[in-house]
Amino acid sequence: MSDQDCIFCQIVAGELPSQRVDEDERTLAFMDISPATRGHALVVPRRHARDLFEISAEDLQATVLAAQRLARRVHERLGAEGVNLLNSRGQVAWQTVFHFHVHVIPRYHNDPLRLPWTPAPGDPDEIAATADLLR
Ligand code: 5GP
Ligand code: ZN
Repeated sequence: MSDQDCIFCQIVAGELPSQRVDEDERTLAFMDISPATRGHALVVPRRHARDLFEISAEDLQATVLAAQRLARRVHERLGAEGVNLLNSRGQVAWQTVFHFHVHVIPRYHNDPLRLPWTPAPGDPDEIAATADLLR
């Protein structure tokens, strides 16, 4: 069910630290360590699935609904004017962590984000402060 070497399974299990912002029976949402914009978070199923092809219908539904919930929250609490949901399936499509995840990327007028973005570690204090607003 979980994969020993999978960092997102370790985050779900609490073995790796993360800034959790939302959870339910099937899913967990936490801040991305290299945010593309302020408030960038990831939603994952608790149960390990490699990618879009592998995830069960029930977990896919729960993950997308959790992403919708978080998208509403970044709009309401961070003042994001828009949101991109992104899922990458396969290396050629930029997938780097092989545990299914949906990026919830808040968008702001005139933000500098262009695809594909080049991930760079964010400031942990700033990420923690933003996570507080999203809980
Ligand atoms: P992908 O490239 O697979 O679509 O997205 C993987 C995402 O996971 C990247 O945006 C990356 O910054 C994020 N990430 C990678 N390792 C960690 C980690 O240990 N903790 C957190 N919170 N995010 C991570
Ligand atoms: Zn996993």
